Amino acid sequence: MNAPTNVDLFSGAIARLDKAFQYADIDAEALERLKHPKQILQVSVPVRMDDGSLKIFTGYRVRHDDTRGPTKGGLRYSPNVDISEVKALAFWMTFKCAVMNIPYGGAKGGICVNPKELSRLELERLSRGFIEQIADFIGPETDIPAPDMYTNAMIMGWMMDEYSKIHRRHTPGVITGKPIPLGGSQGREEATGRGAYYCIKELEKKRDWVPKKTRVAVQGFGNAGQSIARLLHADGYQIVAVSDSRGGIYKPEGFDIPSLIQIKNESRRLQAVYCTGSVCEAVPSKSITNEQLLELDVDVLIPAALEDVITVSNANQIKAPVIVEVANGPTTGEADEILNERGKLVVPDILANAGGVTVSYFEWVQNQQGFYWSLEEVQQRLHAMMTQEFNHVYDWMIEKRIDMRTAAYAVALSRIGAAIASLGTAQYFSDNDS
Ligand code: NAD
Repeated sequence: MNAPTNVDLFSGAIARLDKAFQYADIDAEALERLKHPKQILQVSVPVRMDDGSLKIFTGYRVRHDDTRGPTKGGLRYSPNVDISEVKALAFWMTFKCAVMNIPYGGAKGGICVNPKELSRLELERLSRGFIEQIADFIGPETDIPAPDMYTNAMIMGWMMDEYSKIHRRHTPGVITGKPIPLGGSQGREEATGRGAYYCIKELEKKRDWVPKKTRVAVQGFGNAGQSIARLLHADGYQIVAVSDSRGGIYKPEGFDIPSLIQIKNESRRLQAVYCTGSVCEAVPSKSITNEQLLELDVDVLIPAALEDVITVSNANQIKAPVIVEVANGPTTGEADEILNERGKLVVPDILANAGGVTVSYFEWVQNQQGFYWSLEEVQQRLHAMMTQEFNHVYDWMIEKRIDMRTAAYAVALSRIGAAIASLGTAQYFSDNDS
C-alpha cells in the first residue's frame, strides 16, 4: 500500500461539516469557527543519536477546539506526519469527544520520524525532548495527549515523567495511556478495539448476525486491530483475513487469533499459525495485499491501520455490506458517497474508535481524583457509554434518513453548538442591544 499524501486531509475532514450542518442544531458562525483550529504549535527537537551525531526532528501539536473542555488527542510517530494530517486528526478528536458526550475538546500531535530506525534510548531522548518543547502548551486542565500510531504506554510514561520534572510536581493527569504502575487505567490498552466491539455487538442484534457465520477482515494488526480481532474471535466470529504494513493473510475458514497475536508479538511478523503453548505450526493460508483485503467478500470490513485507504479507486469494489472504521479517516469523502449509494453501512471512525478516548477520559478522571477503578468497572462504564451513543447516532440516522457518518457529525455538532450558544450568540447580543 502506498503511503497516503496528507495535503488535503484537513480540507477533506472539514468538508464533512457542511453536509451535517443541515441536520444539526448549530448556528452558521459557530460552524465557521470549527473550520479553524484554535492553536498550532510546531517545534524542532534536537536529539543526540547513539553514534554521537545530532538529528533534528519536527513535531507538532494542534488544539482544534476547547469549548466543551480541555483538549484531548494522541501523539503519532510516523514519517508521514505533517501539519495537514495533525490538523485533521485534531478536528476528528473534537467531534469524537462530542459524539461520546465526553467533556473534552479535540487536539492531536505527532513527530515526523520513523521510530523503527531509532534505538530505545534514542526514542526516549526524542520523547522527553518533545515534551520539553511543548510543556507550556499541554497540561491536565488544558491539553492532554495520549498514544496513537507507533506510540505506546512506555512512551507516555516517559512523557509524564518529563512533564512532572519540568513542573516539579507529580502530574499523572497530563497524559493518558500510561503504564498502570504510573497511573494508567485498567483496560486502556484494548479500549479502542473493545469500543468497536461493543458497536458490532449492537449491530449483531439489529442485523441478526450469527457470529459463527459472520466473516470479518481486519486491516492493521497493531493495538486496535489485534484487540478487535481477539474479542470478535472469542465470540465465535470468523476472522478470515488480517494484515500489517507488509501485507495480509487470508483463510476462508478463519484464523485462530490468539495464535496470530502470539507469533506477531514474538517475531514482529504476521504469520498464519496455530499455537499450542509455545509451539506454533503453520496453517494453510493465502498471502494477499492490503488492497485485496479491502475487497474481500466478507460480512464486516474493519480498516484499523491508516487513513485514506478506501478511495474512489476501490470504493466500487468493496463487497462488505458493513464497514467499521477503527482507523481514523480510512474513507475519503468521495468514497463515502459511493459507499452510501451502494447501500453500505459505514460505522464512522469518530464513533467506532471512540473507546480509546473514552477510557483515556476514565484514566484522567481517576488521576484527578486519585482513586482507581477495577477492570470490571472500566469495562462496564465503557459498555454503557458506547452502547448509548451508538444507538443515539443509529436512531438519528434512521429518523433523519441520512448515513451514519452524517448522523454522528450532526449529533456532535449539536452538542458543540449548544456549548457555544451557552456563551452567547450574535443573536443574543444584538437582542440585548436593542
Ligand atoms: P499501531 O501502531 O499499534 O498499529 C498500526 C498497525 O497498522 C500495524 O499493524 C502496522 O503494521 C499497520 N500498518 C502500518 N502501515 C500499514 C499499511 N501501509 N498497510 C496496512 N497496515 C499498515 O496503531 P494503532 O494504535 O492500532 O492505530 C491504528 C489506527 O487506529 C490508527 O488510524 C489510529 O489513529 C487509530 N486509533 C487508535 C487508537 C488507540 O487507542 N490505539 C484510538 C483511536 C484510533
